[in-house]
Order: sequence, then structure tokens, then C-alpha cells
Amino acid sequence: MSALAAAAVAVRELDADQRAALDACVVAALALSSSEGEARGRTRLLMECHGRYVRSFGVLDPAPPFKVFLERLRGSRVADLLPRQPRESALGELWLLDDDGMPSSALNRIAVEAAEYSHQAPGIGADIRHLHSLLRAVGMLSEGAGLSRISGETVQHAVFRALRAAGFEAYTQGREAMVRTPVLTRRELSRNAALTELGAYTEISPTRQFGGVWAACPMCGWTMRAIYRSNGAVDLECEDERHSLLGARYRAESVAGDWRLAPRGELRAVPELIPVEGHVALPYALWLWVTLPGLLEVELRDRLVAMGAEVRLWPFGDAYDLHVTVPGRSMSWRVDVKTWADPYGLAQKLRESPEGPGKLCFVVPEHLRGYLPVLRRGVLGTEARVLTDIDLVAEVGRA
Ligand SMILES: [Zn+2]
Repeated sequence: MSALAAAAVAVRELDADQRAALDACVVAALALSSSEGEARGRTRLLMECHGRYVRSFGVLDPAPPFKVFLERLRGSRVADLLPRQPRESALGELWLLDDDGMPSSALNRIAVEAAEYSHQAPGIGADIRHLHSLLRAVGMLSEGAGLSRISGETVQHAVFRALRAAGFEAYTQGREAMVRTPVLTRRELSRNAALTELGAYTEISPTRQFGGVWAACPMCGWTMRAIYRSNGAVDLECEDERHSLLGARYRAESVAGDWRLAPRGELRAVPELIPVEGHVALPYALWLWVTLPGLLEVELRDRLVAMGAEVRLWPFGDAYDLHVTVPGRSMSWRVDVKTWADPYGLAQKLRESPEGPGKLCFVVPEHLRGYLPVLRRGVLGTEARVLTDIDLVAEVGRA
């Protein structure tokens, strides 16, 4: 599990006071690291956050005063900011702002997944407010209901159910578009009635643009995050840890008023800088819970179709991800793609499978091959199997 996914689990283990303190720290860190244009009302917001922070500590173990609170947000491990600092928590390995006050990749992720007041924050707050209005429009959030800690399952369920209401074909096309094209021109969006109706796409977040331009991650196509450096340069990187590590990291420098990108990682090809004007993008949560998990599904589909197999994506609503057959052969595969190693999730899926556990084929990405033994223990005693994408492609090729 990545450090960020582990953090989401760790947040669920916090008590109510620790969660309230975390909320306050996240919103304050977002406010501190926002650009000047978003700074209106910043001091008031910071003071509100400190108020909530102090209340979460109680009287026996008083919280630090305002100035110390702000100083500690820089460079402190998340666990060390909370009352009764949780021990051996994944939150002990993450920080919200680095020593220079730059936002970490954990900050936005925790804001989306785990904070109650993050819709108030500058930057990512606009994405979160958009998600809330979308969930309200499809009947998943009642007016005035608590907006906190929306799970990935809730968001997927709401979005897919709303798309299915437009018919099966619109559902498949809409879901595929959200995976393949997490950024669209307004003109492209207007040609897709189901997606327009759903209202999933919104303005490109101020946190993922600079100087009126944005650039797409070469791996997922979504808008990379912009981090302003003190020397006037801007760093762009994918919000996905793995994409960033694999090379979706660039530095933008202004040369005679013209921005140029230079690679900071392994990937030498440099993405194009595109005007923000005329484009819309998925908000963070939909990229995290629809685009990212779908990438391997559509890529597998493409690879198998190129080999002559027939593939249906997301058949029967959402029972599983791909139905694979080979013309002239009696074999078929019911494939459920899992993008992270989760033995508990496999067992859950087996219990829910409408056709029983038999023959479901769980596919994990090749980089998780090391987890196969533990995942296989999760399906022991059933007919279900666990393999990697490479294994599946080889198996279909041999059929
Ligand atoms: Zn990416």
C-alpha cells in the first residue's frame, strides 16, 4: 500500500478529537500555502482553524498558541500535530507542509479524503465543493448533510448510478471518457450528453495551473499540480505518487516571458503547456476514484482487443470490470481489476459476486506481483484466481 493509501486507513483509526485537530491543520496548511490571489480572508480562516485546534486538545493538554501552531505546520509530521500523538501510525511518516512551507502530496489527498472543513480551504476547496454539489445533484448527499469523509466507494457508486440512468451505452462511454480523458475541451464535453448532464467536469483547479496554462501527466492525462518555488520557478508533478516517481515531474521556467518545461525525472519527453481557457477537468476525487483505477482496465482492454479477443468493459453494471472471450474458443474470463493489494477487498468482492465466487479472475498490476501469495490466500477454497495483467494477457494469448 502506498504511504498515502495507508494514511487514509490511519485517519479512520483516529479518535474524534484527533480528527478535529487534523481537519484544522489541513485547512490551515492549505490556507498558508495558497497563492496571493486566494488570500482574501486568510487570517480569519487561520484563526478559525486555530480555534477548532484548541478545542480538540481540551484543558488538560493545552494546544500551542496561534503563532506556534502556524510554525509547527511547516515540517512537522502529521502525527506530531495531533492531541495524544498517535504512535506507529502512517501519519508519522507524512507532513502537510515541508520546511519551506511547500504543500506535500499528502496535503491535498487528506483534504479530499479525510477533512470535514476542507471545502472552506483555498485551492483544493473548489474541487471539493464541486464534488459535493455533484453528489447532492445525484441524490447522494442531502441538503445540509455533513460533507466530511466521503469514501471512494460512495463516489463511485453515485457517479456510476447516475451514468447508468442514461442507458448502458452512455454509461460505458461516459465512464471510459472519464478514464481516458480526465481533461476535455468545453467543445468535446458539449458533444457528450451523458457527461454534460452528470456535471462531472469543472474548471481546472487553481492548484493545478500557473500563468494561465496547465500540463497533462504523461501517464494519466490529468492536470499536474503546480508548486511555486521561491526562485520564481514552478514545479509541476502528478498528484499520483507513483506517476511522479516514474518521472511525471517537471520544472517550468520563464525564458523571456515564455514558459518552458524541463524534466526533473526519468521521463525525457516534455508535455505541452496548454491554455486553461476552454478546458474543463475532473475534480481531484473523481480523478482519484474513477480515472486512476480505470487506467489498467482500459489498457488491458486495448491490449486484449489488439490480440483478437472480444472484450466488454464493465458488463452488467459494475459486477466486474472486463468480460473476455476469444472467437472460436469456449473459454471466457470474468476479470476484476484491483489496482492495489487488498486481500480484504478481494474477499468482500467474492461474497458480493452475483454469480458466486466461481471463476472470477482478479488482476493486479505487474508491480504488485510480490503480493500474489497473500492475495491468493484471500481466495483460498474458492474457484477464483489472482494473477497479474501480464499473466492474463499471456493466458488469453495461449487460448
Ligand atoms: Zn498521473
